[in-house]
Amino acid sequence: MISCGDNVNIANFLDEHPSFQFDLKECLSSFLLSDHLRKKQVLFDSFSLGQFTERLDEENVFDSIREFAPTTSHYESYNLQVPFGHLPYLSKSYLRRDPLAFCNTKNNPVLYQKTSSGSRGRPVNAYYSRQFYFEELFLNLRRIAQFKKVGIGKRNIFSASLHNSLNRPSMVFKDPLEELGLMTRLAFDERRPSSVIGMLKVLVKLQPELIVSKPPIFEALIQLPYCTPYLKDVRPSLVVSSGCSLELELRQNLVKTFDCPVTNAYATSEIGLVGAECPSEDGFHIDTTSLLPEIRTPDNPNLSHDGELVLSSIRNTGMLLIRYRTGDRGRLKTEVCSCKCPSPKFIGVRQKEIPCFQLADGSAFDPTRLNALIYSNVAICHFQAVQISPGNIILKLYAQIEKRSSTSSMRKIKEEIRKQVQNYCPNCRIHISTLDVLDDNAYLGPKYIRSFSFSPTGRCST
Ligand SMILES: [Zn+2]
Repeated sequence: MISCGDNVNIANFLDEHPSFQFDLKECLSSFLLSDHLRKKQVLFDSFSLGQFTERLDEENVFDSIREFAPTTSHYESYNLQVPFGHLPYLSKSYLRRDPLAFCNTKNNPVLYQKTSSGSRGRPVNAYYSRQFYFEELFLNLRRIAQFKKVGIGKRNIFSASLHNSLNRPSMVFKDPLEELGLMTRLAFDERRPSSVIGMLKVLVKLQPELIVSKPPIFEALIQLPYCTPYLKDVRPSLVVSSGCSLELELRQNLVKTFDCPVTNAYATSEIGLVGAECPSEDGFHIDTTSLLPEIRTPDNPNLSHDGELVLSSIRNTGMLLIRYRTGDRGRLKTEVCSCKCPSPKFIGVRQKEIPCFQLADGSAFDPTRLNALIYSNVAICHFQAVQISPGNIILKLYAQIEKRSSTSSMRKIKEEIRKQVQNYCPNCRIHISTLDVLDDNAYLGPKYIRSFSFSPTGRCST
């Protein structure tokens, strides 16, 4: 039973963990929105129990476009007399070019910016209304646990999200519904063993109900031998993986390591939480209370065929995304599932895979770090990083022809990127090639590839 939130004392937590930051202003804002959050949670309760009280349909989507059109430049020119299926698809390149064209800034003077991980190309900026921002921050993990039928609200610490972004500190949040324990975000640098061990010591002390991270981080923690003594002392109720595809072997290793259920969450920065994983672990039930899913198959408009998942979302009143192409491929199963959830299930999903890279000394390197380094240059619209052995990385940079001014400047760009990447990956050999592309939507294959097994010793095992 959910009950422990009001017993948790944030002041005590901060006394015991001085490295954590607490944002009082944000906390007060979220408490002002607690009625809104409670209402949204009730709606999700009905979704997770398969008892829909509301379901988004095409007419609701048209109503939202009508509401946004007078103040949102992208939707001004939409012809709303056509059938829904004739509305244009929206690709990531539109968002990259002008994200504010999708925002209703008139009714939302404050928008929260969220940047995608850029796992397919340049990162995309999304903007959230205040309500949606707090909904994502405070309700998502609770919803994921609930769908997995894991009991929560029994410990003082509800969640620990392990993240390796260098410019975000460790944070603590208080549940505005006062039902769960504290939510924490633990910052660390996976390249430095001392930082990893420091984070794990805190994790052992916190004993959160949920541990949340992304596959390359989980892979590093499981593979690095100095993590093992700490991991066996952490006993969460649920491990949540998100951000990219969770491969079967890693899932099995996580179950073994933490001795608890593991679930895969499907969320995007642009849309938020898309779906909860079916208990049968073969797909995601799409939250159709606020999302309208379609499968984009140019040759065959049948939902049960393989294609790209396209979503229309009306949940974020700050930014409206209609017929948004997610870039993730799979198919929709519309028959009622064995788990009794009647919402369509996105199955056969092919999400992006992100393996953990390895430095020459055997320590870990999350290749998504390369995004910030490489995309700081405007000529580069995509890249591919292939690790062929610990300490050896091949980078293929795709440059847009109209943005590269001359061959000599490309040479300069290559040299700059080489220096930056080498700073991040000490003792690594970086081989760089450049290729031209015409269209930044072109599919150029997986972005990160590791062609050997991660080895605890740092030596190549195959
Ligand atoms: Zn199911």
